[in-house]
Parts: sequence; C-alpha cells; structure tokens
Amino acid sequence: MKISAVVFIASCTVAVIFCIILLIGNKNMVSAMGGANSVVDEDTFRRQRKRMVEEQIAYRGVKDKKILEAMESVPRHLFIPEENRLYSYYDQPVPIGFGQTISQPYIVAFMTELLQLGDDAVVLEVGTGSGYQAAILARLVKQVYTIEIIEDLGKETRKRLKMLDYNNVEVMIGDGYKGWQEHAPFDAIIVTAAAEHIPQPLIDQMKPGGRMVIPVGGVYVVQDLMLITKDASSKVIKESVIPVRFVPLLRK
Ligand code: SAH
Repeated sequence: MKISAVVFIASCTVAVIFCIILLIGNKNMVSAMGGANSVVDEDTFRRQRKRMVEEQIAYRGVKDKKILEAMESVPRHLFIPEENRLYSYYDQPVPIGFGQTISQPYIVAFMTELLQLGDDAVVLEVGTGSGYQAAILARLVKQVYTIEIIEDLGKETRKRLKMLDYNNVEVMIGDGYKGWQEHAPFDAIIVTAAAEHIPQPLIDQMKPGGRMVIPVGGVYVVQDLMLITKDASSKVIKESVIPVRFVPLLRK
C-alpha cells in the first residue's frame, strides 16, 4: 500500500515535470513563430515600405510624387492585425478581420492617383476597413470623410486613426451606398468595395469637375474599376480602367 502510494506520487511528479517541459517547449515555439513578427522592428518595416513603393508601385507606373511619399511614410503594418503583420508590405490584399481585407498597396496608390487630388480637396471614402486608404488620403487632401458599415470595425478604426493623429479624417458607421449628404458635394469619391451598380446618391454627391473611382461588378468575381467624372456642366462620363477584385459592397 505504502509502496504503491510512493509509486503513484512519483509518477504524478514525473507527469507534472513532463507537462512543464512540454509547456515551456511550446511557449518557446510560439515565441519563435511570433518572434518572427516581433523581431521585425520599425527599421525593417521602413525598408520593406521603401521597396514596396519602388518595386510594386513606382515600377508599375504610379508617378505622383506626393502619393509615392505618402505610401512610403504611412506605417501600413499598424493597420493590420498583429497575426498578419508580417504580410504588411507583400504585393497582395491582407485579411483585417470581420471577413474584410486591406487592399493591395499598388491598388491603393493607383486608385488614389486616378482621383487627381488637390491639396484642398474634400474626399469621401466608402469602405473604411482598416483606415489605411483614409490615412493615405489624409496626407494628401484637406478633409476625408469615410463610411464603414461594420460597426465594430468602424469603431476600432476610428480609434486607430485618432491614436495615429489623423485629425482630418472623420469616420461614420453606416451604409455608404447613400453617401454622406451633410458634407456633400465632394471633390472626389473612392469606393473600396465592389458595387453591382454605381450608386446614384454617390453620383449626386460629386462636385461638377469631381471624380469617383469605384469597382463595379458581381460578388467574388473580377470587377471593373470604373472612373466616373462629372464635368463642369454636370455631365457624367463613365469609363472602365482595369479589372480588379474587391469584397462586396454590403447593404443595410
Ligand atoms: N479601404 C479599406 C479596405 C476596404 S475593404 C482599407 O484601406 O483598409 C471594404 C470595406 O468596405 C470593408 O471594411 C467593408 O465592411 C466595407 N463596406 C462594405 N459595404 C459597405 C457599405 N455599404 N458602406 C460602408 N462600408 C462598406
């Protein structure tokens, strides 16, 4: 009886020690993986950002110096959840939670260039997401209004933009299909989710001489990136620019 008690205690002790060893080992493994994340310091991110601008954006033909500068200075990785941060400067969209994605860097720059923004412009964005596109715009224009339909995402992004000192961006939670009448008309409108058709309220909220970029097409298929211009006499011209793939514009 006594011996079996000793054997029992000894085997429990061995089991506990074994578990502790396993736990420590596992923790090291996790930190080695996460470590890949955390060892990427700001300097490395800065170098990756410079390469992103040279190899993905300027190389493909975006020329506007101010846009290239903005893309080089906005810390894209701070708009991406930690678990995906390693992919921040990859040539691809990256998941940001809530089933949504931050657009590929080149597409952000290309769409921004299509808007031909002046310093004084007032811009509407539909589809705030991470706030990255809004942050790029904020460095180029006077005021950015951006609308996000997913409440928790919109609130999180509003906080992030405030923390990063983007004081000329206002985030509204709502259905961007209807635009933001209170601040209309806009010099430029950018829609970063694919619509099945061009929302009439957005066309109505464009200034004469204004521009809008919007992906148009079905859900989860290749869509057309459309450039809409409204001339001085309010005539609307629509042209298809390149094929793109965006998450769908949701409706409330
Ligand atoms: N511009 C974002 C990426 C956009 S992903 C960035 O820089 O990170 C598309 C976003 O549009 C998602 O966050 C999605 O929730 C939002 N969205 C979809 N339909 C919308 C609608 N009707 N109104 C406002 N936002 C919408």
